[in-house]
Amino acid sequence: MTDQPLKPCPFCGSVPEIESSLTRIDFGRRLRIECIECGSAGPAVRVNMARRNNDARAIDEWNKRA
Ligand SMILES: [Zn+2]
Repeated sequence: MTDQPLKPCPFCGSVPEIESSLTRIDFGRRLRIECIECGSAGPAVRVNMARRNNDARAIDEWNKRA
C-alpha cells in the first residue's frame, strides 16, 4: 500500500479511501480508483507484476485528473 493521498473527486468533492476505491478491472490486469460516492472512475493503469508501484500509478492518474 501507498501513503500517497488521493485528491477529492472532481465530480462530487468527496475524498475516496484508497483501500476501498482501488479497483481491479479486466480480470485484474488493470487498476483504477473509483469514487464510491458518485461512481466516477479515474484512468486505468496496466498492472505490471514486475513493478510494485501499481497502486501509486493508479493514484497518480486519479490525482492528475482531479
Ligand atoms: Zn465522486
